Amino acid sequence: MFEEYSDEIKEKKAKRIAIQLPSGLKRKTPEILSELKTIVGDGVELLVLGDTAYGACDLRDIEAEKIGADLMIHFGHASFRVKEAVPTVYVEFFSEQDIGPIVEKAAKEINENTIGLLSVVQFSKQIEKAKEILEKTGKKVIIGQSRSRSKHAGQVLGCDFTAGTSMEKDVDCFLYIGTGNFHPGGVAMGTEKIVYVADPEREEIRDMNELKDKLLRVRFAKIEAAKKAKRFGIIVSPKGGQNRLPYARKIASLLKTAGKEAFIVVVDEITPHKLDEFMFDYWVCTACSRIAYDDEAVYKKMITPQEAEIVAGSREWKDYVVDHF
Ligand code: SF4
Repeated sequence: MFEEYSDEIKEKKAKRIAIQLPSGLKRKTPEILSELKTIVGDGVELLVLGDTAYGACDLRDIEAEKIGADLMIHFGHASFRVKEAVPTVYVEFFSEQDIGPIVEKAAKEINENTIGLLSVVQFSKQIEKAKEILEKTGKKVIIGQSRSRSKHAGQVLGCDFTAGTSMEKDVDCFLYIGTGNFHPGGVAMGTEKIVYVADPEREEIRDMNELKDKLLRVRFAKIEAAKKAKRFGIIVSPKGGQNRLPYARKIASLLKTAGKEAFIVVVDEITPHKLDEFMFDYWVCTACSRIAYDDEAVYKKMITPQEAEIVAGSREWKDYVVDHF
């Protein structure tokens, strides 16, 4: 499952390894531990961390240090290139699904000439192949590079689409290779160019225009509702890659200047029940930037920090930006 990482893991000569798995991989714990045993041998203690692992933003290196681990293995996400409290090996998973057919379909259906190519970790190894396919049909292709926390060429995250914005002025449109609307939705909200999705699972090419319009309408309505609110809770995450306490302080100050009450609340795992207990009128989420957007039906009274700036009068709607790190 992860043979290519075995040398890197062995070299660490660890005695106690903390293992962090995202939700989709937790059910494979027995197989993963069994493979790890064959790499490190029986004398090494393997401890699985059962809490969330939403991304490299949610690294549990402090917990790993507390339980005396001398190595952490984080499965499923690429590194943010940060200094961890415990040496960490990131085991990325790459899709074996061939993206060739869906990219060929995209080449036929997209009329624009210069395409900015984007994807996620799972397909990042095939992005050069996608470029070649498109170029063979006469398209000009640019692969952007993140200016923030994404590691691979063309890679975007829900909180970092700088691989797209960095090349926006040079392309006619974006083509995102992957499934779902989570990542391309962020690119569409954060740029002016049309975003197409080449979805290898659904075997379809779709654009994000309708979704973008809908999202912006929802955001506008939430900002207007928040303007009428009096008491705000500002969520700060203690997760290493989501902690924006200085930004939260700034938002609290802006809201207070605008005549609102604002309270900073530190929450690790955000749930509706936890927030409801505070009885605040509205929440500003400075943790994972996607919570306010993607869980908007769950957290009806939640806005992003940049939306709070509009509420406080320090930013105008015409300068709307999608929350990002
Ligand atoms: S979108 Fe949220 S969960 Fe994903 S990497 Fe960014 S902060 Fe983490």
